[in-house]
Amino acid sequence: MQERLNKLEREIRESLESARDVASLEAVRVKYFGRKGEINRLFKEIAQLAAGERKSFGESLNRLKQDMTRELEKCLQGREDKSEGEIDLLLPGKMPPVGHFHPLTQVFEQIITFFRSYGFTVETGPEIEYDWYNFGALNMAHDHPARDMFSSFFIKDDLLLRSHTSPVQIRTMEKQKPPVKIICPGRCYRYDAFDASHSPVFHQVEALYVDTGVSFGELKWLLNEFVRHIFGPKTKYQLRPSFFPFTEPSGELAVSCIVCGGTGCSVCGSSGWLEVLGCGMVHPNVLKNVRIPPGKYSGYALGMGVERVAMIKYVIDDIRVFYENDVRFLEQF
Ligand SMILES: [Zn+2]
Repeated sequence: MQERLNKLEREIRESLESARDVASLEAVRVKYFGRKGEINRLFKEIAQLAAGERKSFGESLNRLKQDMTRELEKCLQGREDKSEGEIDLLLPGKMPPVGHFHPLTQVFEQIITFFRSYGFTVETGPEIEYDWYNFGALNMAHDHPARDMFSSFFIKDDLLLRSHTSPVQIRTMEKQKPPVKIICPGRCYRYDAFDASHSPVFHQVEALYVDTGVSFGELKWLLNEFVRHIFGPKTKYQLRPSFFPFTEPSGELAVSCIVCGGTGCSVCGSSGWLEVLGCGMVHPNVLKNVRIPPGKYSGYALGMGVERVAMIKYVIDDIRVFYENDVRFLEQF
């Protein structure tokens, strides 16, 4: 019987030596030490031995089991230590996380790309602006009540943080004769409290087209194309009358509520519509202020808040999430 035990020990040692990785060591463990393994089979045979042999064989078998278990553990330990420092070239690589643009930047780009494809060029201007460019030239004299709507940050009597990007329209028309076909993207400032729908800093894109014979019909056509491009081809919209001091007639464009589809909910104030932008035909007084004769030329203008467009497009009900930089929010875009 001792012969069999010696043979088994040799076998186990050879198997352990030739095992090349953790998986083959596990196979050795199952073959010899497992529930149905060689060692357990021998334990079961003890009952069939002659009474005199049982004790010494049992002791030898136990010793063998203990010795070989220690050997196996040593081998496993060695393998694990070794594999820590090894590079397994067959494992799939780790992909570095790829960054992407902020949702506001993405919407900005979509809007700008749309207007560029219709022949508009991009103009920018200063964020600290003269009263004349922000209000006066846009048909809002010093005592005009509409100035209140713009909640402006004044730095001095005559100087303020621009409350819309319209001053860029004035600056461009001053230096360029018609045709003028531009968009003005940029940052604007108003002293609104920072809440779910207001931010003291926000972004606008305005468009202006001045030439001979520009009509409201052309504006309407462009708005139709714009809604399809930004909100999708099936989006319903309405163009309804409004008032701005710098356009006449004036209108505003609303799209059917993305949340309720037009039946009315808390997001759209039960109206079924969400206002996207303001527009209209450039007021003759504005053209006169930049020495463009209103009898000869006409134009349309439109302006929108980029945050507003992004909130409608992605159904976001709090403007503050754009500035908090919470990665869980940003990763969704
Ligand atoms: Zn709704």
